[in-house]
Amino acid sequence: MTHLPRQYHITTFGCQMNKADSERMAGILEEMGFQWAEDPEQADLVLYNTCTIRDNAEQKVYSYLGRQVKRKHEKPDLTLIVAGCVAQQEGELLLRRVPELDLVMGPQHANRLRDLLEQVFDGNQIVATEPVHIFEDITKPRRDSTVTAWVNVIYGCNERCTYCVVPNVRGVEQSRTPEAIRAEIEELGRQGFKEITLLGQNIDAYGRDLPGVTAAGRHQHTLTDLLYFVHDVPGIERIRFATSHPRYFTERLIRACAELPKVCEHFHIPFQSGDNAVLKAMARGYTHEKYRRIIDTIRRYMPDASISADAIVGFPGETEEQFQNTLSLVDDIGFDQLNTAAYSPRPGTPAALWDNQLAEDEKSDRLQRLNHLVSIRAAERSQRYLGRLEEVLVEDQNPKDPTQVMGRTRGNRLTFFTGDIAELKGQVVPVRITTVRAFSLTGENVANPLVCA
Ligand code: SF4
Repeated sequence: MTHLPRQYHITTFGCQMNKADSERMAGILEEMGFQWAEDPEQADLVLYNTCTIRDNAEQKVYSYLGRQVKRKHEKPDLTLIVAGCVAQQEGELLLRRVPELDLVMGPQHANRLRDLLEQVFDGNQIVATEPVHIFEDITKPRRDSTVTAWVNVIYGCNERCTYCVVPNVRGVEQSRTPEAIRAEIEELGRQGFKEITLLGQNIDAYGRDLPGVTAAGRHQHTLTDLLYFVHDVPGIERIRFATSHPRYFTERLIRACAELPKVCEHFHIPFQSGDNAVLKAMARGYTHEKYRRIIDTIRRYMPDASISADAIVGFPGETEEQFQNTLSLVDDIGFDQLNTAAYSPRPGTPAALWDNQLAEDEKSDRLQRLNHLVSIRAAERSQRYLGRLEEVLVEDQNPKDPTQVMGRTRGNRLTFFTGDIAELKGQVVPVRITTVRAFSLTGENVANPLVCA
């Protein structure tokens, strides 16, 4: 007999794609009658949505899982699921390692959670990792915010960066149609969402798998065309997109961002290394000169645009001089934010097999040196906000100070100011910036100065 447990908990590791998948799976579970449990120890269904990019994320999954396995010995109707990239990569092996698992599912199967769970509740142990064609999303994701939402526009990745497991685990590129994307955004607008972020592992590849070319021979559906196509959706006030690949980032896209008022002046473009030989070994397909040209072009159109990126230090064979080239790039560009990581070999990727791996202490020394420079440069970049009037879209209460609300500027800086969340949630408020820190700001509401008196 099928018995539905009532409470679920999802722990998410890794990238925004994983977070979006988790929200989609939470939506499915809630449609099935489950309720969110804050504490995983109270849940009847525990799902780990995993990531293989960072080593410690993978190890964390195993240690969290260990605790749940113990619980399962006392509570046999506990349902244990591993989803995401570790699930995809390990497949059956995971079941052999942790036989208490009920379901192991790759990221492409997120939409099938209901189906798979029904089989589990019928007493089966399931591994769903074979590639599938992703059909249109038919589920409504639960979204953690009621103000900002993610919208997947392209799944998978056709690149072959030598450190990355994504192409193995998320499959080839599959773009959703512009009509389906617009319909989803219209629905979000009706539900009261104010900001959307279009998501893809390599969002600049959007549309190249869709039929249709223009007379000039370019793909008919590109990210730029998509931005124009969804720009006027009622209710949506801000549009962002991630993650960009320098190889495909065009001036046409930059022009569209400058032209379209709802598209925020914030660009997340990973460069990974500032050295051409390392970029070549990574198979990234661009040079640091090309990257710099992209940033110059963005700043020519939008001098104040905020720029964030991802960087890896300690890639196999990286010399001190090559690492210095990364430092120079960071110093020259002045990022508003940089996600940094020490290279860690991922199973099934080419670079993991190379014998020129760096020692751990060397990698962490470089990481520290890079992080130090990043925070200095980010603090300098923050200075430009001091005294300025910024539009802040209010998302939530400041969890550390209930008299304050928090939101983001168009440039994606987290900003706090005194205010009542019940009154301001979802509103764009003009805020005079009074305090700047490396990665966040504080200001006062100038639309309603009495609120902050
Ligand atoms: S572009 Fe490269 S790093 Fe990004 S998901 Fe694709 S293979 Fe991985």
